[in-house]
Amino acid sequence: MYDFAVAGLGAIGSATAAELLRRGHSVVGFDRYHPPHTMGSAHSDTRMIREAWYHGSPYVPLGRDAYARWRRLERTSGRTLLRTAGALMMGPEDGRVLAGHPLASVTRGGTDCISLSVQEVAERFPWLRPDPGTISIYEPGAAVLSLEACLEATLEAASAADLRFDEPVVEWSASASGVRIGTERAEYRARRLAIAAGAWTSRLVPELGLPLEVERTVQYWFEPAGAHAPALADGPAWVWELDREGTWYGFPPTARGLKAGMHFQAGRGTEVDRVDREVGDSETEALRRLFARYAPGAAGPLVHASVCLYTNTPDENFILDRHPYHPRVVVFAGGSGHAFKFAPILGAFMADLLTDVPPRHELSPFSAARFRSARPWTPPGRR
Ligand SMILES: Cc1cc2nc3c(=O)[nH]c(=O)nc-3n(C[C@H](O)[C@H](O)[C@H](O)COP(=O)(O)OP(=O)(O)OC[C@H]3O[C@@H](n4cnc5c(N)ncnc54)[C@H](O)[C@@H]3O)c2cc1C
Repeated sequence: MYDFAVAGLGAIGSATAAELLRRGHSVVGFDRYHPPHTMGSAHSDTRMIREAWYHGSPYVPLGRDAYARWRRLERTSGRTLLRTAGALMMGPEDGRVLAGHPLASVTRGGTDCISLSVQEVAERFPWLRPDPGTISIYEPGAAVLSLEACLEATLEAASAADLRFDEPVVEWSASASGVRIGTERAEYRARRLAIAAGAWTSRLVPELGLPLEVERTVQYWFEPAGAHAPALADGPAWVWELDREGTWYGFPPTARGLKAGMHFQAGRGTEVDRVDREVGDSETEALRRLFARYAPGAAGPLVHASVCLYTNTPDENFILDRHPYHPRVVVFAGGSGHAFKFAPILGAFMADLLTDVPPRHELSPFSAARFRSARPWTPPGRR
């Protein structure tokens, strides 16, 4: 019998497996594919990490811890995992991106952020053209994570575990003596189980009725173009809420190109096994229109486009909790488009719950029970 089993070896599951191993436990891990792969939420070159959140946000202490853990993994793996490029958070003051104003967290977390006027944005980053009245918060210490390198380094750190790729978990059951895990190939036993199956999580815990919405989203890479093309690589990344068009983001170009996409689009909820993986010309054109208006000339020919999945909760906060009927089982779900940056610390929280160590941060904002009143949980049934 293994000490622990981990179902899902993407961003959070691989970090959980690595942390459990670091603490000296035996671990078996499963994934339905071989991460990094392009079917879930963790692929496509880059992810943003930043520390400034609204005052009192549960993410303020997590951000600091996550940076330190990625840096530690950089040292131990000998890989380059993150590059400081700065980030601009832009939009109306009372909008979704700037609600609560990240500047408020400066005093609390010590994060070095500055507010830039429209003219100052144009002077510093002349390829960007915000509309008058746009609020811009610049966080110079924000960084870009190299996603595939991060995931590979984490899986390397977990490589002493029994890692079983292309072997989906199809069922599990828990009893007083442990957990039985059934995959498409065999049965396994462990003392406890971590479930971190991303967009597929509801399939493994249907009895919880978690209000998770799988959202199809597209990432595009363009050739950097225009007079400012060389400067784009220095940053910043941006998340930019617009009055009518929604929120879009962009990343400093990598070898793959200048990445951009839309963040949170209503009506994109889908079934995880029925995701349309094709990208239509009209979708690409919509993004080109944004570049034409707000970063004119910066995007050259389209190099590549790729479908990725968000798994959203109604309040966009994660679920990280013990299974209410089976204390041997711990669940992470609902990355809501922003969990990658926190993967090492979320993996540590998962390991804390699995090993009965008091978590080092307050986890109540991530409790599964916060959704009980919205949607009553069904009884555990045959489990
Ligand atoms: C376009 C896009 C941009 C994003 N940008 C950012 C960003 O800038 N910063 C940031 O912090 N976050 C960002 N995110 C969010 C972040 O990538 C996700 O929140 C994070 O990857 C979620 O991790 P996860 O482990 O829950 O899911 P995943 O990383 O998808 O891992 C889940 C794994 O479970 C496996 N699995 C599923 N079912 C089973 C089963 N039955 N048995 C075994 N294995 C199974 C899957 O194959 C998969 O490998 C972005 C996401 C997208 C899609």
